[in-house]
Amino acid sequence: MINMTTPLVEMDGDEMTRIIWKMIKDELILPYIDLKTEYYDLGLEYRNETDDQVTIDSAEATKRLGVAVKCATITPNAARVEEYKLKQMWKSPNGTIRAALDGTVFRAPIVVKGIEPCVRNWKKPITLARHAYGDVYKNAEIRVPGAGKAELVYTAADGSETRELIHDFKGAGVLQGMHNTDASITSFAHACFKYAIDSMQDLWFSTKDTISKKYDHTFKDIFQEIYEKEYKDEFNRLGITYFYTLIDDAVARVMKSKGGFIWACKNYDGDVMSDMISSAFGSLAMMTSVLVSPDGVYEYEAAHGTVQRHFYKHLAGEETSTNSVATIFAWTGALRKRGELDNIPELVTYADDMERAVLWTIESGKMTKDLALITSLENVVVYNTQEFIKEVRKTYDSIA
Ligand code: NAP
Ligand code: MG
Repeated sequence: MINMTTPLVEMDGDEMTRIIWKMIKDELILPYIDLKTEYYDLGLEYRNETDDQVTIDSAEATKRLGVAVKCATITPNAARVEEYKLKQMWKSPNGTIRAALDGTVFRAPIVVKGIEPCVRNWKKPITLARHAYGDVYKNAEIRVPGAGKAELVYTAADGSETRELIHDFKGAGVLQGMHNTDASITSFAHACFKYAIDSMQDLWFSTKDTISKKYDHTFKDIFQEIYEKEYKDEFNRLGITYFYTLIDDAVARVMKSKGGFIWACKNYDGDVMSDMISSAFGSLAMMTSVLVSPDGVYEYEAAHGTVQRHFYKHLAGEETSTNSVATIFAWTGALRKRGELDNIPELVTYADDMERAVLWTIESGKMTKDLALITSLENVVVYNTQEFIKEVRKTYDSIA
């Protein structure tokens, strides 16, 4: 039994992933670790019962304890309000937690033999860091009806105005205003540099500063300044690099790369590129996700949702073959981080061995249906949700 000193913040969730959550704890964690957690039930029913206070409390606990592991949760829409008889359409828990921690989300694929990326030269994972504030996601837009002058106007606190002509319209057109803040860009930069050091990977950052000489250039300058001032020495010591390039050059280089680095992107670029990266690596069920705050707080989760369709099959008593890999890696990621922070090498070794056990199980041809459909391996055996987790346990017992 491995002992822990500081508890993890455990955020339980919804539907099929809630079922998997318990299976993982029972089969892969509790037999080996004297698990200490501070438990928060983010299942939709309890969020509704507590007027979503439980989500806020779980984020506060994460700030206090430093490391959280989160199960996928339902973000309510009109159909869910009806289904769960909700008092109101509660906000996305991920949005609430991200806002409370001022965090950046890093998404990385789990690379395993037999599930080959479409891009043949990608040998290592590419981690995508998306700035999650501002730009086109907080824009103001006007559909210009006809001729007229459009200007950008900034009114300072003292009332003085700065104006910039956008366009003298001769006819109809479109108009958009957007913003970002130094504070948010700075947080994003710190999270990226910290994560690079933490995972010992190079950091790439790309914008379109040649065209956007003030907006994008400010991103570039803030990153460069923070790098020089606070991280350069540590990067040199670790032998990792910070590399800035134009977004189009970055795209070309990423396609030709071997992988094994972090790619930081502005909000829109990150939105688009993360779907490209994750589908090119094979499967949403094999993507992990970690939210990192600028002061070094970590929240680990799977990138996929609650797998609702499988849950309804499960409720109907039918067999499911839901992939638990990303949720297992959320647990191992959080436990490894706890081990590092509390100086418990056994916990780090446990996480390494458990991840290896997952990969070996798949590489030996035992996998869930979603992977069986895309694998290049032959003689594959398809396991149901529970059987796959039990197979991972067998593999773990044989190597640990
Ligand atoms: P989803 O849960 O990611 O599932 C979409 C489809 O992807 C599934 O129906 C399944 O395809 C496949 N899939 C995803 N994860 C899988 C896994 N682990 N194993 C096997 N197949 C997997 O997305 P959704 O159905 O759009 O959303 C369901 C709920 O999740 C929503 O209420 C949404 O709000 C929530 N959500 C939460 C998070 C989060 O908490 N981070 C993220 C996204 C969505 P097949 O049906 O073809 O087998
Ligand atoms: Mg998107």
